[in-house]
Amino acid sequence: MKILVTGGLGFIGSHTVVELLNSNYDVIIADNLYNSKEEVLEKLEKIAGKKIKLYKYDLKDKSKVDKIFETEKDIEAVIHFAGYKAVGESVKKPLMYYSNNLISTTNLLEVMQKYNVRKFIFSSSATVYGDNGEIKYVETMGRGETTSPYGTTKAMIEKILEDLYFSDNSWNITLLRYFNPVGAHESGLIGEEPNGIPNNLMPYVMKVASGKLETLSIFGNDYPTIDGTGVRDYIHVVDLAKGHVKALQNAPDGLNTYNLGSGKGVSVLELITTFEKVNNIKLNYKIVDRRPGDLPEYFADATKALKELNWKTEKTIEDICRDSWNYEKNLEK
Ligand code: NAD
Ligand code: UDP
Repeated sequence: MKILVTGGLGFIGSHTVVELLNSNYDVIIADNLYNSKEEVLEKLEKIAGKKIKLYKYDLKDKSKVDKIFETEKDIEAVIHFAGYKAVGESVKKPLMYYSNNLISTTNLLEVMQKYNVRKFIFSSSATVYGDNGEIKYVETMGRGETTSPYGTTKAMIEKILEDLYFSDNSWNITLLRYFNPVGAHESGLIGEEPNGIPNNLMPYVMKVASGKLETLSIFGNDYPTIDGTGVRDYIHVVDLAKGHVKALQNAPDGLNTYNLGSGKGVSVLELITTFEKVNNIKLNYKIVDRRPGDLPEYFADATKALKELNWKTEKTIEDICRDSWNYEKNLEK
C-alpha cells in the first residue's frame, strides 16, 4: 500500500515514515524543506535500510501536487503533516499561516478527489478544544474558541474535512488531535530541531542541558496544579508515529476523530526533575511570570483511541527524557 506523507521530513512526519516502513508500507514524501533538512532523508533511509522517494515541492502549488499523483498513480492514502506550527509566530504573521496551512490542504484534497484517493489522515491538535474549563479533553466535547491563528487553522481544516465528508461519504477521514509531542527516535538520528530560540518546554530544556542557553524560565508556579507549575500531556513522538499506523489500519470507515495523548498530566517541575534524574544532569532554572495565554492544566482522555484503534502510549516520561537527550548529544558530535 503506497502512502503519501506530506511534511515527512519534519519532526512527527519523519518518525511516522520510519514506523510506516517498519510496517511494510510503501512511502513517498512531499516536503518543501521550509522547516526541515534534506539530510533527514538520508537518516530515514539509514534507519529503514531502503531508499525513499522525496518530492521537494511546495503544496501551495497545486500543479506540483497534481504532478505527484500523476507520477505515482497508485497512492492509496495521504497522511498530511505539512504546515506551519509556531503558535507565537502565527499571531504575528496570521496571513502566512492561513495561506500555507489552508491552501496546502485544499490543494491536496482537490487533487485527491481528481485521482479518486479518498483516505486522509490529518495532524490536528489539542488546541482545537480551546479554553473551555474542562481539564480532561474528550472527543465528544467538540471544538472550543481557539487562541491563536495557528489553532484556528487546525479548527478550520477540521471543519473543511467534516464538510467534505458530509458532501461525499466515500471519503475516509481521520482527525488526530495530538497533545504535546516530545522525545526522539532511539537511534539518535532524528528528532526535533527548532530554528532559533525554542518556545516549547522540551526543546528549551535541551538547549539549557547542552549549555547553549543559560537558564530555563518556568512560566509560573502559582497555578492550581499539583506543584503550581503548568501541566501537560507529553507524548513520545515514536508512540505518536505508531498512532498513525494504527489509524491507517484500524480506523473505521467514515469521519473519525481521536485524541493521541498518554492520558496523564505531567507538570513542568516533574518533567525537569525526571530529566535531571534520568540523564544525571543539573538544569538551571528560575520561576518567572506566567506566559500569557497558557492554560494551567490539560491532558487527554485517550480511551477512544485504545478502544477503536487499539493504540495507546507505551513509552514513559523517563524514555522521553532519555531519548531527547540522546538526540541532542548526537547533534553536538
Ligand atoms: P515540522 O515543522 O517539524 O514538520 C512540518 C513539515 O512540513 C516540515 O518539514 C516543513 O518543511 C513541511 N512544510 C510546511 N509547509 C509546507 C508546504 N507548503 N509544502 C510542503 N511542505 C511543507 O512540524 P511537526 O512538529 O512535525 O508537526 C507536523 C504536523 O503536526 C503539523 O501540521 C503540526 O501543526 C501538527 N502538530 C504538531 C504539534 C507539535 O507540537 N509538534 C502538535 C499538534 C499538531
Ligand atoms: N513552559 C515553561 N517554560 C518554557 C516553555 C514552556 O515553563 O520555556 C511551560 C508552559 O507554560 C506550559 C508547558 O511548559 O505549562 C508546556 O509548554 P509548551 O510551550 O511546550 O507547550 P504548550 O504550551 O503548547 O502546551
